[in-house]
Amino acid sequence: MITTLKTNITVKDICEGFVYNELEGKGLFGLSGKLTIQPEYQRNYIYASDGGKREMAVIESVLKGYPIGLIYFNKIISNNFEVLDGQQRITSLGRFITDKFAIKDENGMQYFGGLAKDKKNKILETKLLIYECEGTESQIKEWFKTINIAGVPLVPQELLNAIYSGPFVTLGKEEFSNSQNANVQKWSVYIRGSVDRQAFFERALDWVSKGNIDDYMSIHRNDKNINELKKYFNSVIDWISSVFTDVESEMCGLEWGRLYEQYHKKSYDPKKVLVEVQKLYADPYVKNRKGIFEFILGGSIDTKLLEVRVFDEAIKKAVYKEQTTKAEKKKVSNCPLCAIGHDANKEKIWSLSDMDADHVSAWSKGGKSDIKNCQMLCKTHNRAKGNR
Ligand SMILES: [Zn+2]
Repeated sequence: MITTLKTNITVKDICEGFVYNELEGKGLFGLSGKLTIQPEYQRNYIYASDGGKREMAVIESVLKGYPIGLIYFNKIISNNFEVLDGQQRITSLGRFITDKFAIKDENGMQYFGGLAKDKKNKILETKLLIYECEGTESQIKEWFKTINIAGVPLVPQELLNAIYSGPFVTLGKEEFSNSQNANVQKWSVYIRGSVDRQAFFERALDWVSKGNIDDYMSIHRNDKNINELKKYFNSVIDWISSVFTDVESEMCGLEWGRLYEQYHKKSYDPKKVLVEVQKLYADPYVKNRKGIFEFILGGSIDTKLLEVRVFDEAIKKAVYKEQTTKAEKKKVSNCPLCAIGHDANKEKIWSLSDMDADHVSAWSKGGKSDIKNCQMLCKTHNRAKGNR
């Protein structure tokens, strides 16, 4: 890869012919159209989020004469470039000069158009440090993979989008990384993360590929459609919303892809499911509400998923003391199950630390975590009793 350092390109040059696409949230062109600011494998503009602090900081740095860091261009043909690194900074500059946002100075909030002339000139005449790189696509991409864009590291999916750029990624981003897509709100109920940072695209790929996103993107890189991806994704979403008709905040971010694979062939009565969800939500013994959905899908058996509240230490000690005193008098084990057994432990007095508390009447059958429903069992018997 050949690199040439350019030190005489000004902010004014870069922002000549700058176009910002409001709909796509992208800075598109600069350098009188010779510079593509956001090639396909770049990510969406994120400096405007966070209340615009990042984009304001870029302008304030320039006004103070601070460096804003190296910028890398990829030379495509003789007079055509695309931004490899610096997209967010250049877009900030272009957006400011075209009055898309204001900065704070001693006179309050100021748009570029309202700045004093000396400040305008200071910005426009600032020279940027730009490396022009020339290399093969794979060299450029390999290198791109190793850099972090100023202050905001790429998330893994953004890297994969860069590595496997092509028609498939373009279509995938149009569907899943597009904040204008009316479905995003519905998806957000089940999927955590931001659309700009590829959370939905990543999830869609993760589900359809059963976790092998890298392979899937590699195989489908040149596909001219995303039908399979979309179909699978929508099947998962439709399945969740048909089984669980109510929306709960704990549904967000669950492993829905795995749950779909495991349970979508079973049939559920959404009305009964709804009643059970509500019952478990109202149950003070259920500590882990995130587990409610998988618990129900699995036939309401695996109470570990719910982290049912256990007996507190005072209850355990009191029950242990009572059981042990009685057992010692009768010369039997203080574990009631050992006591009725026929092995060497029949008369064994276990220490408190060798025993666990057990619900006499199981929590799932309405048993409470109070002293009346508590018995101490040796660890082996407690484990054997399991989640009945
Ligand atoms: Zn026992």
